[in-house]
Amino acid sequence: MRSTVPAALLTVLALVACSSEPAAQPGTAAEDPYAAAVSDPQEDSVYPEVGDPGVDALHYDLDLAWDPEGRELTATEVLTFRATTTADSFRLDLGEPLEVLDATLDGEPVDVAREGKDLVVDAPVEADARHELELDYAGTPGPVPAPTARADISTTGWHVTPNGGTWTMQEPYGAYSWYAVNDHPSDKALYDIAIEVPSPSIGVSNGRLVSRTEEAGTTRTEWHLDQPAASYLVTVATGRLETTQDTSRSGTLITYWTSPDLRANRLWNLRSAPRALDWLEERLGPYPFSTLGFVVVDGASGMETQTMITLGDDAYSTSPAVVLHELAHHWYGDQVGPDDWSEVWMNEGMAMYLQLLWESQHGGRPLQAVMDEIAAGDTASRAYAGPPADYDPDRFGDGNIYYLPALMWHELRADLGDDAFWSMVRAWPAARDDVATDREDYWAWLEEETGTELTAFLEAWLLGGTTPPVDASEG
Ligand SMILES: [Zn+2]
Repeated sequence: MRSTVPAALLTVLALVACSSEPAAQPGTAAEDPYAAAVSDPQEDSVYPEVGDPGVDALHYDLDLAWDPEGRELTATEVLTFRATTTADSFRLDLGEPLEVLDATLDGEPVDVAREGKDLVVDAPVEADARHELELDYAGTPGPVPAPTARADISTTGWHVTPNGGTWTMQEPYGAYSWYAVNDHPSDKALYDIAIEVPSPSIGVSNGRLVSRTEEAGTTRTEWHLDQPAASYLVTVATGRLETTQDTSRSGTLITYWTSPDLRANRLWNLRSAPRALDWLEERLGPYPFSTLGFVVVDGASGMETQTMITLGDDAYSTSPAVVLHELAHHWYGDQVGPDDWSEVWMNEGMAMYLQLLWESQHGGRPLQAVMDEIAAGDTASRAYAGPPADYDPDRFGDGNIYYLPALMWHELRADLGDDAFWSMVRAWPAARDDVATDREDYWAWLEEETGTELTAFLEAWLLGGTTPPVDASEG
């Protein structure tokens, strides 16, 4: 997620993150279309009430119909999943306003029970067996409270605009406000999402636009995401949206989905994306996905939703700096990311460091001046929201997970030198392609890759209550 505020690092210090999952099981991609989506789901240490490690979602097939006048969502969902344990029942997250009308498991009717946002499916499952859950559900979805003090993301999930359009942003959770999901970043899955809305509105989602048809006043779009994504990186937006396209130097086609009413200068700013992608590919390697788009919505933040970045219709969210930030997450966050929300610094620290470096090279203040300012505010930020990897659960996405690890990377860069630092930065996302991982794995990898003992350094920066020694300085 973008930071809350562009400048004023010292006083505001607020921004946010992204993620991914563990390695696909080896080998069987040819026979097994879902091999890449096999995960090792975890119970979250920060937000344990969301998600269920008993379910390893492999593929969500969502067929959504949105009625803008009645504000009703009618949906059919087919979830293919692997049970991780043998149990008499399993659970998913699904917002209370949505009523399940019909449920089958592997073709047989099953009973479901609601316990708050938990959807309990009363049917035995066997460890490592695959199952297909089909649900028909309907209702008037609404957003859910976000565990944050940020003004730009006070709620997450399904939002409806005054004219009946819709959009979603859902970090660290909130996907469950509009579909039944194991709403946790340790469980990446593949997606096919179809959306029907009254014309001339259109539905936009992640991945490749497979088809777009119009019949009897209804526009249907079908989207296919061919690399697994965490639920917080899924997006759906509906409304009157037009397309503009650019191509990066490396040949990636970029599609912007924007309202006809979008201010011209905001579209102009968005169209910095090809140059931002060029800049990032020079440092991080080839863009790791097969499609790329942006959708501008009525929200007030920005999210690195996988292959279809969701940006609020405001000056900062559509600025070149935020475009660069959300693109950087496609390596740090979307390709590789944490399997637990305590490690969201993995995403935001590097995306922020890349953003600040890019800004310093594109008319912004010198990087070192910004780093000095972050250092001056470091201890206050820790006191307010906690250390980056042990933050206050009610202050998700504050400046501590952005700026402090950005400064940590700056310090490490000074220690290692540019060659070793950028080689390490480039190697990590490819080393854990499509995987959600943990602190232990990342720290061990960093030490191995750099040939440097880093545990004390990382502990001080990520878990300490006070500012570690800052060595990097001007010149
Ligand atoms: Zn971010």
